[in-house]
Amino acid sequence: MEKANERIMPVIIAENAGFCFGVKRAVKMAEEVLDSSLAGENIYILGEIIHNPQTVKMLEEKGAVTIEEKDLEKVHPGKLILRSHGVPLEVIEKAKKLNFSIVDTTCPFVKKAQIIAGQNSKLENQLIIIGKKEHPEVKALLSHSLYNANVIGLVEEVKKLNFKPDVKTVIIVQTTFSGNEFKKIIGEIVLLYKEIMVYNTICNATYIRRKESLSVAEKTDVNIVVGGRNSSNTRELTNYLVENGFKAYQIEGPEEIREDFFNGAGCVGITGGASTPLSVIEDVKRTVEVRFLERKFK
Ligand code: SF4
Repeated sequence: MEKANERIMPVIIAENAGFCFGVKRAVKMAEEVLDSSLAGENIYILGEIIHNPQTVKMLEEKGAVTIEEKDLEKVHPGKLILRSHGVPLEVIEKAKKLNFSIVDTTCPFVKKAQIIAGQNSKLENQLIIIGKKEHPEVKALLSHSLYNANVIGLVEEVKKLNFKPDVKTVIIVQTTFSGNEFKKIIGEIVLLYKEIMVYNTICNATYIRRKESLSVAEKTDVNIVVGGRNSSNTRELTNYLVENGFKAYQIEGPEEIREDFFNGAGCVGITGGASTPLSVIEDVKRTVEVRFLERKFK
């Protein structure tokens, strides 16, 4: 590895760190709704629009109220902004019946997987959704399949599928799922079924961020991954770096930077999940630089 302390600039930011296309689009749509709202109009966001606390706070400061599905009956109807990773169909129907007007920010890449799930609900195919059962995107996908699918998140779960070997099997995957795990699960599934159609719905933004983070990690001694604790793609990014043998810490913002991150480090890499605003990544960079200088002149 190139010796980090020979560098003048001790911090490298991954090139595409920060919001991906779908998140930018969702936040812009929400801001437009809020900016054009009438006095007294109720604007709600159903759950976290994206998994990032700073963005949720920013939208709340502009007047959005974050609610959960259980609150729909308790509040006065208004505009209801749906999050970028999708919402189950029955929740949308319930909101419409309660007279909410829907602003759907679902990312087009997530929508594509929802459409495949919907099409297969009308066919005789066996549908597998690869993803984390508790992730909101997966819950929404399952509802689009009209609950006519099996969700698996671990290779060990493949054996438990109660599918017929000679019925066509269709596979979709959570957009932010780990590529390595996906490969392992597919490797097991192909041994069990005769006719398989795999839609690799893992989003490109996830691949790009992983590739760039790896390239930054190769040039640095320690890596800081910035993003919401609930953000699946941020967590996966951190795990990816660790699995590849690099030192990586995940934080939500500069206040979580710890001194021990830098022990023995001469150069720091910073990256962020697809739902992390660039402004937070830059705040982290500034804080790291200050801490770095403080240590140097101690
Ligand atoms: S990570 Fe991909 S699928 Fe998810 S919001 Fe961003 S662009 Fe859309």
